[in-house]
Amino acid sequence: MQRPVSPSGSVVSDSMDGAVKIAAGASQDPGLSASESARAGAGAGADDGSLASSADSTGRPKVTKRTDYLSWDEYFMSLAFLSAMRSKDPSTQVGACIVDAHHRVVSIGYNGFVGGVSDDDLPWAREADNPLDTKYPYVVHAEVNAVLNRNAGSVRGCTMYVALFPCNECTKILIQSGISEVVYLSDKYHDTVPMIASRRMLDLAGVKTRQYIPKDKQLVINFGT
Ligand code: ZN
Repeated sequence: MQRPVSPSGSVVSDSMDGAVKIAAGASQDPGLSASESARAGAGAGADDGSLASSADSTGRPKVTKRTDYLSWDEYFMSLAFLSAMRSKDPSTQVGACIVDAHHRVVSIGYNGFVGGVSDDDLPWAREADNPLDTKYPYVVHAEVNAVLNRNAGSVRGCTMYVALFPCNECTKILIQSGISEVVYLSDKYHDTVPMIASRRMLDLAGVKTRQYIPKDKQLVINFGT
């Protein structure tokens, strides 16, 4: 089931054009990623029906708040997935979002090559005869970019939302920077060495981990065009 929502908050039909859909789940390769797919649809918004229902004592319709709003987890994980859509990686797109204890976004990041280098000057391949011709030596993971991109002095005590359980290299950075909780969506590489090492470090360091299970498969952003 999906829950299409326009920026203005109105619920729109799934089959509309001009909509960005953020889908949970997808293929990722170890080392990086999560996935999301964006597909265009079309459409115009419509009232979500949350305005008013029963009448009050004056006879006026009683206006109540929307009930179909995003939860914090949905909101922040969606931001991580939206950020992943900026990734140039053809096989794996991962996004991460860091929030503080007051539910304020402190940073966001996605996987990509180092800054100042053209995305066309390094290889994107996953496999090659020479390891230097693959992307792996050069890509910065979303989690690390998110830590480095922070707009606050520190991310100590913050929570990271990330599409894929972090690898051991990212986990070192997360622990050293003081991230206190990791909320992930996919754990598809649970039994690989990097993830086992990652869990070991997170457990020993007392960093909480929690898997986010989306209640909807997709979230649609409709620009109302
Ligand atoms: Zn990593």
